Amino acid sequence: MKTPKTIPNVRFEPETGCEILQFFTDFESGLLIVITNLIDQKQGEDFGNGARGIITKQYVIDPKTQEILTPEIWKGYFSYEPVEIFSEDGLYKLVRQRIHEVQKNTDLWQEEIREIVSGKLISSSKSVAFHEKKQENLLERRKKQEQQEKEWSKKRKNEPKQFCGHCEKEVAYNARYPKYLCSECCSKLTDSEGRTVVFSNTGFMGTGCQGYYKNTEAQELYNSTICYIEKEKFVADEEKFGGIVIQPCGFYEE
Ligand SMILES: [Zn+2]
Repeated sequence: MKTPKTIPNVRFEPETGCEILQFFTDFESGLLIVITNLIDQKQGEDFGNGARGIITKQYVIDPKTQEILTPEIWKGYFSYEPVEIFSEDGLYKLVRQRIHEVQKNTDLWQEEIREIVSGKLISSSKSVAFHEKKQENLLERRKKQEQQEKEWSKKRKNEPKQFCGHCEKEVAYNARYPKYLCSECCSKLTDSEGRTVVFSNTGFMGTGCQGYYKNTEAQELYNSTICYIEKEKFVADEEKFGGIVIQPCGFYEE
């Protein structure tokens, strides 16, 4: 059996059947936040689909008096007035407000970003307000996300582009096979009569290239590597490092 968690220098007894899950000092108020859960999670709230919710309970404690505070008392430590924050470019306004959620017996940050000119809602969020460390607000979180996306798209731009040899959809870059077909086009391959064919490796190590007629019970062989999409001619080949590659006929190298 694991030893139950205790809080140094604080007399706190979880309710019968419960144990301390987590405790920390709220950075804003200096109050101690303690979260307990049921030891036997089988007693937890039944969601009806075989899953049970972890029932947690939160206590707000004044570390000086060791008293468990009611919301009416802890509310005295915080401001519940809405605060407006403007983005650096002056285009967006964040309204941030601490609210008390009676049902969950806790406080939440309610945040809303609106376009200043149109008033259009851009993003909104609700998150737990008690924290050990100051959290970034929704504007800051969005800015970080945008910077990350910019970096990713820059990386993508530096990579050479490559397109499917049939439908010209963008595909992953592969210098060895500059015109290989995308997976969608590969699923449309037929023999010269229009029967659907598929190709796979014959060797265990991903070598060899054998054609089959699709959906045939006894795996009817298609003994050619030439295949078609309508009138266009393609050739199947084993890929250098395993797998099958389909390319327009002109690109086939012996
Ligand atoms: Zn394609």
